[in-house]
Amino acid sequence: MIDYQHIINTIHSELKGVEDKGNVASYIPELAKIDPNKLGIHLTDSIGNHYSAGNADELFSIQSISKVLSLSQCFAMLGNSIWERVDVEPSGDPFNHLSLLEFENGIPRNPLINAGALVVADMLVSHLENPKEDFLDFIRRLTDDDTIGFNEKVANSEKETGYTNIAAANLLKSYGNLKNDVDEVLDFYFHQCSIEMNCRQLANAFYMFMNNGKCQKGKKYLDITQVKRINALMLTCGFYDEAGEFAFEVGLPGKSGVGGGIAAVLPNNFSVVTWSPGLNKKGNSKLGMQALEKLTTKTTQSIF
Ligand code: GLN
Repeated sequence: MIDYQHIINTIHSELKGVEDKGNVASYIPELAKIDPNKLGIHLTDSIGNHYSAGNADELFSIQSISKVLSLSQCFAMLGNSIWERVDVEPSGDPFNHLSLLEFENGIPRNPLINAGALVVADMLVSHLENPKEDFLDFIRRLTDDDTIGFNEKVANSEKETGYTNIAAANLLKSYGNLKNDVDEVLDFYFHQCSIEMNCRQLANAFYMFMNNGKCQKGKKYLDITQVKRINALMLTCGFYDEAGEFAFEVGLPGKSGVGGGIAAVLPNNFSVVTWSPGLNKKGNSKLGMQALEKLTTKTTQSIF
C-alpha cells in the first residue's frame, strides 16, 4: 500500500519554502489579489480515501479547469456530433492564441484552448434551459456539494478585460461556429471560469475521469469511451504549449487553470488536485507542476 498521506506531506514541505513560485495571473485583475504563498494538495484514491496537505480546503478560481467539466456535460448530452465543430488535436500554442483559428476556418484545434471552450459553451447555451444554473448544478451533483458557486467579481473582472476572448468569440461567429449571441456565450464562459472550488471538491469532481465515468456516489455521467476521449484530450491538450512537458515530467492526464489549480487523474487509482497561484511563463502553476512530478516519481505511478 502506498502511503499517500506521507508522500503528500513530504511534497508539501519540500515545496513550501521554494522562493521562485512564478507569478500570479494579473490580466484578470481580481486574480492578481491572490496570495502567491498558498499551496494545497488533495488526493482522492479509488476507494474514496482522502489525503490533504496545506491550503487544500481554501477556495480558488478554477478558470480553465472548468473546460473539462463543460466538455463533459456537453459530450454526455450531445455525443460525437460535437466533434464536427471542434477538433481533437494539440495546438502547440498558448491558450488564447487565435492564429490557427483563422487558418483552420473557425474550427478550434481542441476543446481545451479558449476558442474550443467557447464553442462548447455555445453548445451548452443552445441546449441547456438555464445554462449557467444548469452547468453549476452539474458540478454540484458531480461533487455532491451544493455550496459550490460562481464568483461574480471574478466573472465581471474578466469581462472587463476580456478583449482576446471577445475577439475569439467574434471570429468564431464570423465563421458560423457560434450559434448564439456573442455576449451570451461570453457571459456563460466567464462565469464557468469564475467557479470557485477547493482542492478537495475539485478532486471529487475529477473522480469520474479516474473511475470510468462514475462519480463517487456511483452515478454514471460518461461512458468508458467518452472518458477515454476526455482523458486523451487532457493528456495532449490540457497544458496548451506545455502539454508535452507535463506528459514528460508528470505522465498523467490533467488540466490547469490560471487561478493556479491543476487537476489530474491516474485512471483506476486516484484523482489529485494541486493549487499554487504562481504561474510559469506558459500560464500553468509552477509549483503545481513540480508537486505532481514529485508525486508520480515518489509513488512510481503514472500512465506510462
Ligand atoms: N478565463 C481564462 C481566460 O479565458 C482562462 C484561461 C486559463 O485558465 N488558462 O483567459
